Amino acid sequence: MFFGGDPFEHFSGMHGGGGSRRGGGRGRGGGGGRAAQDVDTTKLYETLGVSKGADEKEIKKAYRKLAVQHHPDKGGDEHKFKEVSAAYEVLSDKEKRAKYDKFGLEGLVDDGGGGGGGGDDLFSMFFGGGGRGGRSQGPRKSESVNHPLKVSLEDLYNGKTAKIAINRQVIVGESKMCTACDGQGVVIELRQIALGMVQQVQRRCGECGGTGYNFTRKKERKILDVRVEKGMNHNQKIPFRGMADEKPNMEPGDVNFIIQEKEHDVFKRKGADLLITKTLSLNEALTGFEWMITHLDGRELAIKSKPGEIIKPEASASHPYVKIVPNEGMPSYGNPFIKGNLYVLFRVEFPSDGELDRKVVKELRKLLPRPSMEVSYDEEKVEVVHLEQADVKNFGKGGAATRENEHDSDEEEEGGAGQVQCQQS
Ligand SMILES: [Zn+2]
Repeated sequence: MFFGGDPFEHFSGMHGGGGSRRGGGRGRGGGGGRAAQDVDTTKLYETLGVSKGADEKEIKKAYRKLAVQHHPDKGGDEHKFKEVSAAYEVLSDKEKRAKYDKFGLEGLVDDGGGGGGGGDDLFSMFFGGGGRGGRSQGPRKSESVNHPLKVSLEDLYNGKTAKIAINRQVIVGESKMCTACDGQGVVIELRQIALGMVQQVQRRCGECGGTGYNFTRKKERKILDVRVEKGMNHNQKIPFRGMADEKPNMEPGDVNFIIQEKEHDVFKRKGADLLITKTLSLNEALTGFEWMITHLDGRELAIKSKPGEIIKPEASASHPYVKIVPNEGMPSYGNPFIKGNLYVLFRVEFPSDGELDRKVVKELRKLLPRPSMEVSYDEEKVEVVHLEQADVKNFGKGGAATRENEHDSDEEEEGGAGQVQCQQS
């Protein structure tokens, strides 16, 4: 089928590669069906040498004759053969023929939501430039293959070339269009089912297995240099154009390696920024700190506080407390000299209960600013209470449980809908 699916899907972007031999001046845009009187609705009939009123049988007969005459494998003109095949493809399809009769070739173009262009030029568009065997499908692309490629953060930071072997099917020698089906992949048989009544049966061509071509393939092992560039991202694609399996009359698809960034023990990554977590003791948080990290390129960095710098357990509104080391993040993809930032997420570990002895506490009280002032009260009148461990999730669950149960059994109605969950055992 020439027009199966979207016939123009491969014209956007990759058409140039086809080496259109009829090239030149194809107007894009327009698109909307032109008025019938502007367009040529006879060319396809002329190509097959039939009248506009020809019936299916006449069209088929004309096509058969011309296809044999112009078959490239029998020394015919390949281009002429393609025109004949394309004309037949349209005129043998009721719907397409009707569209063509109304709007000319553009009527068919509109189907694909593609551009406009006239007459001859459209043929070259349909065939994507020709020169590839006789099948009118043109240089469609065979399926691309995606391979996940696990890459460490170090390799994404530094860049790396990996040699990866792939096995692909390549066509040996020329693929010849199947003469049994004229490259269609299907053959149409006429069966006489009664006197004067003929049934058309379409079946897959046995000669070529439905591919429309006779060819031999072999397995080929290929070593690809997969270049992981600095700063590449998770799910980024490294394409190898045309490295997928070869198929007759098709441009081979691509082999793509899809980067799968491995998790790192120390660094988390988002875009070009990196993040590490550092737990400081309260002492360090208050009095200063210094620690070493090994960066992704092996450099050792000493991260050191400035004099007087204090790290807090959390910033406002329970946001974690972060600081950055500027320009120590990942290199940017395509611009590796510009780096993101290295974020440091701090946690401050306070001493646990009882860890500070009384002498230390006394000293600290003297040393740290704003000590708790002693309050004076009458111990006879004032109750002194202490604190226990708690979980804020339990807030609201205090009090006796029995009251609610009474509620359930006796005064369900008055309890108010939805306020109390009934517990049945
Ligand atoms: Zn065949």
